[in-house]
Amino acid sequence: MKILVINAGSSSLKYQLINMETEEAIAKGGCERIGIPGGKLTHKAHGKTYEIEQELPSHTDAISLVLKELVDPEAGVIASMDEIDAVGHRVVASGEAFKQTTLVDDAVMVLMDEIAELAPLHNPAAILGVNACREVMPGKKMALVFDTSFHATMPDYAHLYAIDYEDYKKYKVRRYGAHGTSHKYVAGEAAKYLGRDASELRLITCHLGNGSSISAVKGGKCIDTSMGFTPLAGVPMGTRSGDIDVAAIDFLCHKKGMTMDEGLSYLNKKCGVFGVSGVSSDFRDLIAAKEAGNDRARLALDMFSYSCKKYVGAYMAALGGLDAIVFTAGIGENTPTVRRDVLAGMEAFGIELDDEKNFAKNDGSIREISKASSRVKVLVIPTNEELVIARETAALL
Ligand code: AMP
Repeated sequence: MKILVINAGSSSLKYQLINMETEEAIAKGGCERIGIPGGKLTHKAHGKTYEIEQELPSHTDAISLVLKELVDPEAGVIASMDEIDAVGHRVVASGEAFKQTTLVDDAVMVLMDEIAELAPLHNPAAILGVNACREVMPGKKMALVFDTSFHATMPDYAHLYAIDYEDYKKYKVRRYGAHGTSHKYVAGEAAKYLGRDASELRLITCHLGNGSSISAVKGGKCIDTSMGFTPLAGVPMGTRSGDIDVAAIDFLCHKKGMTMDEGLSYLNKKCGVFGVSGVSSDFRDLIAAKEAGNDRARLALDMFSYSCKKYVGAYMAALGGLDAIVFTAGIGENTPTVRRDVLAGMEAFGIELDDEKNFAKNDGSIREISKASSRVKVLVIPTNEELVIARETAALL
């Protein structure tokens, strides 16, 4: 079985064609600058990279080009579109409308339009991607796989905000979380690696990348997560502030003459480690700047690690103990100094990091970086969100 995974953004689109027998991507790539001049497709297959520069006025043009490339005699990997059994689409927000992976039909797409406002930067793009695929591949089975689904198991006292309950009921304002496919994937891989049944494990999964979130996973189910109604909440991120007293925003808006929309844009795009350091949103730049003596880069890194540490502590309490901590995504997989700082001084809780293993080169495999004596295992697991989307789509078929 072959599943095409589509992750559509407003002006970009990433894809992978996954062979479900081997669970490997036989081709992957992306389109850039959709709807703006300078469109481009980058396609990787047969160990080679192919680039096509072509204007892509719409998502339909982008999908058409992707399919053309997939069946191309040289760069392609399939003889015809019939070899694609189904398409799995990544969708950021499900609201309360969808609790699990859902097969696309007209009624589902009406519901998708209704909840689009929950993730105005992301969901409308996913809708464009789905509609484009339906146009270019009529009749093909398609699934919507939501980033939020894995967090649907959070109990009410964990996912609700302490606002008027009637407002929650009416407007569905609550914690939804994000990065669910990644948390789900690494939690499953951790159970496999530890040789234990997921149902008996208490895990904290740290997806630390440009956007970061931390989840508490008990018995294979998410019981809490750091992101909230939107991906702005939780730990500080590349450019996002993370948790902040909302009254401070009102104050800042007044002082800086910003509207609420401008205030939110400020919190999403100008804050986080970028805002604190004044250097960069990229952790590689921050570490280089800190090593060169930049104290604000040091401060940004310290704030990030301290915030992650507090979530780890809180989730240990919520889980009633801990079997393993998992680090994943760009920072989680590649930045040993962050892993060290997040877990520093937690020996009293049975967490003992092995410095040598932590600083060993990342070879892309699952790595155990705790000491043999550590009661809590610490793992680095490369994430694979596309594979989760493909698995969910295949399971639905
Ligand atoms: P992501 O959003 O998961 O792609 O993560 C991006 C973040 O990971 C950036 O802050 C990068 O600086 C950081 N990072 C650190 N080392 C690497 C690496 N070797 N490859 C990719 N990202 C890295």
